[in-house]
Amino acid sequence: MPLSAAASAREILVRLHDVMAARSPAQAKLNQVVQIVGEAIGGEVCSIYLLREGVLELYATRGLAEEAVHVTKLAMGEGLVGTIAKNSEILNLDEAASHPAFAYRPETGEERYHSFAGVPVIRRERAVGVLAVQHAEPRAYADVEIEALQTVAMVLSELIANAGLIDGGDVPSRPQSTAPMRIMGLKLVDGMASGCAVFHQPRIVIEHTVAEDTEAERRRVYAAFDKMREQIDRMAAQAEFGGGGEHDEVLQTYKMFAYDEGWARRINEAIDSGLTAEAAIERVQQRTRQRMRQIDDPLLADRMHDLEDLANRLLRTVSGQMGTAAQMGLRQDTILIARNLGPAELLEYDRRRLKGVILEEGSLTAHVIIVARAMGVPVLGRARDIRRQVAEGDLLLLDVGEANVFARPTPAMEEAFEAKLLLKQKRKAAFAALRDVPPVTADGHRVTLMVNAGLRDDVHALDVTGADGIGLFRTEFQFLVSATLPQRERQQRLYRDVLDVAGQRPVVFRTVDIGGDKALPYLNTSAEDEENPAMGWRALRVALERDGLMKAQARALLEAAAGRTLNVMFPMVSEPWEFDEAKALFEAQRAWIAGRGRRPPTGVRYGAMLEVPALAEQLDVLLPNVDFLSIGTNDLTQFLFAADRANPKLAERYDWLSPSILRFLRRVADQAHAAGVPIAVCGEMGGRPLEAMALIGIGIDRLSITPAAIGPVKAMIRSLDRRALRARMAELLGTAPPRTLRADLGAWAVEQGVELA
Ligand code: PEP
Ligand code: MG
Repeated sequence: MPLSAAASAREILVRLHDVMAARSPAQAKLNQVVQIVGEAIGGEVCSIYLLREGVLELYATRGLAEEAVHVTKLAMGEGLVGTIAKNSEILNLDEAASHPAFAYRPETGEERYHSFAGVPVIRRERAVGVLAVQHAEPRAYADVEIEALQTVAMVLSELIANAGLIDGGDVPSRPQSTAPMRIMGLKLVDGMASGCAVFHQPRIVIEHTVAEDTEAERRRVYAAFDKMREQIDRMAAQAEFGGGGEHDEVLQTYKMFAYDEGWARRINEAIDSGLTAEAAIERVQQRTRQRMRQIDDPLLADRMHDLEDLANRLLRTVSGQMGTAAQMGLRQDTILIARNLGPAELLEYDRRRLKGVILEEGSLTAHVIIVARAMGVPVLGRARDIRRQVAEGDLLLLDVGEANVFARPTPAMEEAFEAKLLLKQKRKAAFAALRDVPPVTADGHRVTLMVNAGLRDDVHALDVTGADGIGLFRTEFQFLVSATLPQRERQQRLYRDVLDVAGQRPVVFRTVDIGGDKALPYLNTSAEDEENPAMGWRALRVALERDGLMKAQARALLEAAAGRTLNVMFPMVSEPWEFDEAKALFEAQRAWIAGRGRRPPTGVRYGAMLEVPALAEQLDVLLPNVDFLSIGTNDLTQFLFAADRANPKLAERYDWLSPSILRFLRRVADQAHAAGVPIAVCGEMGGRPLEAMALIGIGIDRLSITPAAIGPVKAMIRSLDRRALRARMAELLGTAPPRTLRADLGAWAVEQGVELA
């Protein structure tokens, strides 16, 4: 049994080095490789399968019948070998025949062998072959043996590509088709854009895998690490992104990876095993990817993208192949294409030319998406295989709203796209023209329109939309984009900056709504997995128990609001005592600050979110103690109907304009008004013009909505006769209302000339 992965792989690589250097034919080299690996691993069988004309062909073997070479062929996905190649996965089986994919090939004479281990040979992210070993006795292969096989597979990938032994050793740079095509994806950052396809980077092809001089390779990696760290530090120091906030968080995470000694050590170990610097970086990256695939955690997966970004950067640095499209400069309107991008990579692009981004991967919570949103660049994700469907320079029409992109469009497609874009721009311009006019109904009633925000850059929406303030600032966003728990100072800096930008306009900070499905990897909120996280250990429930977190946030908010009014509200209040406790905790922090002679806020207004129906039954207890109420219709409706807000099957089943919701909200609004407590709605419902109209019709006159909805909702308000609407709503919600008020309200709006975008 080998002592360590490095020792085991080194023993093999030393021998492979001579094979690679020899001038013998490729087939002879492969025959030598199976001998060397078979001997080193002490197995009866070692075989190499290569992808030829779409099938995996047995190319060399030690132990299987010689007659099977170039005769045994397996389709992708067929048998164990086909499964390894198709899924780019490792199989390690003590009893090969019991695997469901096992396919017995009599010509090989393999029935004597029980155990089987195989790894894919990967070239440019595609499996192009399989390296497998077999033993007669049933045994599981040790991790070090699998690692040694993977290292050999890297060397094989170089050998067979150089010898031209595999299908399209180079992935074609032009796609098969030049016809127009539509590619679907996932909406990540909304928007429309047209431009030419530019690939973020040609994949670095590793030329040499076996080192001549291990110490020289080590020096190359050290130098590359230094250079990469320097680049990251420089980026972090750039004034534009150095001012704190989420960009800062992103770069902090980046720095953490760049200086991670564990990563550097693993690369060093791979070099010890005899690999070149490039191959060692790639080897470690392959291993990390593999591990990450087994961990089903979206937040961790996002951090993995950051690490991929850095590993690519390191590879480019060490190989001297530095040119990303950003570094070469964009020459025209560009839609950037990448498997994935790291936030720092995106930040390197010239924003005047970068019109859109299409990723093969990508998820909503990835750092790069947060950065793209702040940059105003539309992003389509999960566009499968886009790098094979599209060639550099192709014209692309990106429409994230429709979750698609058209490649090589016909003139008619282009015309339709331009017309839609023009319409969108016109509508946007019309709404922008409403920026400075107040949201007053046609019969003179002033409605308060505020925006929802959560990131530093969202705050600029206040100026762009002319909104009255921020009605919901989701403070957990800062926690979600951070790799580590944001310290009090960092929280305070964000809150202060937000208040500075808002100036006289009010900002309602909501204390963190984490836990449940918004679990943070660095904060152990939930001991075990919850069956139903939305109804679980989240928001105030966590905050009141883990009060260290809440105390830190209270201090950060109170100190940030020194000399001004602080508006703070608590999420998921289910019973009045929870509000009382949260308020008391804040008041204690306020006294603590005052006791130390620090400047306190001029006033603190405390609000409760009403999103759990039970709270509505105790408004008589709650209302005398709160300064304002805000209804979170996203959660409230899911609890009212017992219908998960994230379940697409239920998304259309219950309507926001159902009498149940509207009657419920009307009752709450009436009670709040009677108690003289201001009441707002801050869920998505208020951002839709018809729904917003219905809310106004039951007496809600404060809405906090997504910034893009301010224009359309304001246009609706300005064309509305509120008195007439209230009378109509009273009728509709009276006796025997219809299943939903949507049709009746829509018809009424048309009849009354209410503008509904
Ligand atoms: C809501 O539930 O309506 C709300 C505004 O809060 P969130 O969407 O953040 O849960
Ligand atoms: Mg909520």
